[in-house]
Amino acid sequence: MIYLDYNATTPLDPRVGEALQPYLADRFGNPSSLHQFGRTMRTAMDEARRALATSIHAQPDELVFTSGATEANNLALRGLAEARRARGRQLITTTIEHPSVLGVCAALERDGFQVTHVPADATGRVTVDAIAEAITSETTVIAVMAANNEVGTMQPVGAIGALARARGIAFHVDAAQAWGRMPVDVEAWQADTLTLSAHKAYGPKGVGALYVRRGVELAPVLVGGHQEAGRRPGTENVPAIVGFGCAATLMRGQLAEDVARMQRLRDHLLTGVQDRIEDTVLNGHPTERLCNTVNVRFADVSGEALVMRLDLEGLAVSTGAACSSGRREPSHVLLAMGRSVEEAKQCVRFSLGRFTTEEEIQAVITVVERVVPALRTITVAHAARG
Ligand code: PMP
Repeated sequence: MIYLDYNATTPLDPRVGEALQPYLADRFGNPSSLHQFGRTMRTAMDEARRALATSIHAQPDELVFTSGATEANNLALRGLAEARRARGRQLITTTIEHPSVLGVCAALERDGFQVTHVPADATGRVTVDAIAEAITSETTVIAVMAANNEVGTMQPVGAIGALARARGIAFHVDAAQAWGRMPVDVEAWQADTLTLSAHKAYGPKGVGALYVRRGVELAPVLVGGHQEAGRRPGTENVPAIVGFGCAATLMRGQLAEDVARMQRLRDHLLTGVQDRIEDTVLNGHPTERLCNTVNVRFADVSGEALVMRLDLEGLAVSTGAACSSGRREPSHVLLAMGRSVEEAKQCVRFSLGRFTTEEEIQAVITVVERVVPALRTITVAHAARG
């Protein structure tokens, strides 16, 4: 099998697996315990926290461990909105955010907040001017993702952060797809909160973190414990956190190299399919795009049929977000970028990673070149039958 669905999840880096293994066996204590069993766990967790903080230019005490990016986005948006409720009730986000952001925004609307969704252009970019226009005296939070999971488009988060800071508005960044695929810097972006997820960058599933800038008020979502300074109570998932920390350390050492390799392979894949298959259109920004993401529309081919056919050929790709694939509804991101329902159903996402090889990309191009025209013939025959 060739795996090109790294935006859905990445395999565990074998070094991460090795690092967390002892914490699934004899190192089992509760990090809140005062005895040696507990202290061993606390030390390991502190080390992971330091590694993560370094990877985003934060301080260790600014990180709150969560069960993943979905929880981190919920905690950030609800936590900021509730803590600032007395100041105003309007939030600003974009139409192309991950469902975990859009979902909590919808829940906040039901609770009396107002949410403005700033549209993206045809490449999936949101402009600073459009965000500025949406600001009112009631705005307390702006939430914009660093890079989109479906098409890979990167947002001008640094400029949006500067705008938010100047207006005294809290700025939240969902960096779940950015971390491991581009430099993530809470200082440069002037983020007040920022979401990370381990399983998108060679760490284990079910663990993530929310960066919360020192001094930023955040109402807790879960209550009833002292862990994570009361911001996320509950006994910590230490094996996963240790793996997360190890993934951060590895990333720090090889991000530049990983990015350069993925970018080269990404461009090879895109040129390969575009040169050999007509009516193949890139979705997303031509340059401001993640180094690993190629989302393309093959005209007159059902994306879902292509994904299934490629699976039979030993190739794992996706029609878009893992959480929405299988739902048969067209991607909200592609629709927000102005694609028609029909066009949005003709798209496939290839997402590459640290373990993708040149040979794999070559093999993918060859298979896609054979399979797409075959599926087009079926579509045309089907249409002719009426
Ligand atoms: N935000 C983005 C941009 C994502 O791509 C994802 C995962 N698809 C999430 C949030 C949710 O991450 P998790 O699986 O860790 O909850």
